[in-house]
Amino acid sequence: MKKRLFTPGPTPVPESVMLKMAEPIIHHRHPEFKEILSRVNENLKYLFQTEQPVLTLASSGTGGVESTFVSLFSPGETIVSVNGGKFGERWVKMPRTFGLNAVEIKTEWGKAPTAEQIVAALRAHPNAKAVYLVHSETSTGTATDVKMLARVIRDNSDALVCIDGITAIGAHEFRFDEWGIDVCVTGSQKGLMIPPGLSFVAVSSRAISAMETSKLPKFYFDLRKALKAYEKNDTPWTPAISLIIGVDAALQMIRAEGVEKIWKRHERLAMALRAGIQAIGLRLFSDSPSFAVTPVWIPDGIEWKKFNSIMKEKYGITIAGGQEEFAGKIFRIAHLGYYDELDMITILSALEMTLVSCGHQFGAGKGVAAAQAFFAMNA
Ligand SMILES: *Cc1c(COP(=O)(O)O)cnc(C)c1O
Repeated sequence: MKKRLFTPGPTPVPESVMLKMAEPIIHHRHPEFKEILSRVNENLKYLFQTEQPVLTLASSGTGGVESTFVSLFSPGETIVSVNGGKFGERWVKMPRTFGLNAVEIKTEWGKAPTAEQIVAALRAHPNAKAVYLVHSETSTGTATDVKMLARVIRDNSDALVCIDGITAIGAHEFRFDEWGIDVCVTGSQKGLMIPPGLSFVAVSSRAISAMETSKLPKFYFDLRKALKAYEKNDTPWTPAISLIIGVDAALQMIRAEGVEKIWKRHERLAMALRAGIQAIGLRLFSDSPSFAVTPVWIPDGIEWKKFNSIMKEKYGITIAGGQEEFAGKIFRIAHLGYYDELDMITILSALEMTLVSCGHQFGAGKGVAAAQAFFAMNA
């Protein structure tokens, strides 16, 4: 059976990238690797739309975000963090673990934070050193208007604008320099189309200044060390060589397609999938849907466990379930990274056939037809 992954990390890895990673290992001080590293660093700047450094760490995305807390701040300092789902919640718990005063802005799952909420938090905490936002909250498939909120933060404070771009980079429009962002983190197993194990941290000159006075303890995740090595086209520790070779190949694909076209492709795929889902009477979960992942309410009378096991065992398809209070209530389909139009037709078809097997009454075939019509009308 062919296995098909529709999860928001890990995401499918193109065959050409897998073949590159399977080549014999090379040494990281060798000129051949240095050439790869400098090309990766250049192409990462393109992906983040920045002229500032994008640091590559050997860790998952969470490690990348941890590096920002420990490298930028000092004990007792205040940061504001938006919690609208599992990941936002993590960026409240994590800084508290390190002795930071994390002010939480809670938003209902499926709703994006508003300018009013950010302004109110900044008024109440004028000493806030940073605001953390999740661009695409993966647990709820909800997109935040980072461009607008970055403006609001800049206009109302000196706080650093720090973005969890882990499922947004490569799916949503993102312009680090133009939008005045200070920190943005992504991970390798999301829009970058390679296996898990790397995180990427873009830092502005304001963020670099904050590093110079930061007093939280750190060693491996010290971004000053990463930056010093970066300036010499090097890494402070043994890099994850094979993954960097993989991301080099993936970034060349991204460059060849063009980042603007990639954002458009993600939007098109997300819109076609939504059209298909609504055409069979299913309801979308988010009020501000992400282009990376689409959460859908499970229809009444359908049991998630049974539904998921048919998807997996009969069709070889892995999708994601709901988390926390939405476990068993929603499912999530990802279309982040290496996906095309026919992948959306495939997942809709599998979804329809699975609903039929579960005894759900609906117009089978209408979802696929709606997605096809969307693609035809928006060619
Ligand atoms: C996947 C994800 C993370 C966590 O990344 P890991 O690589 O699992 O550590 C953080 N934020 C968002 C929005 C994510 O989708």
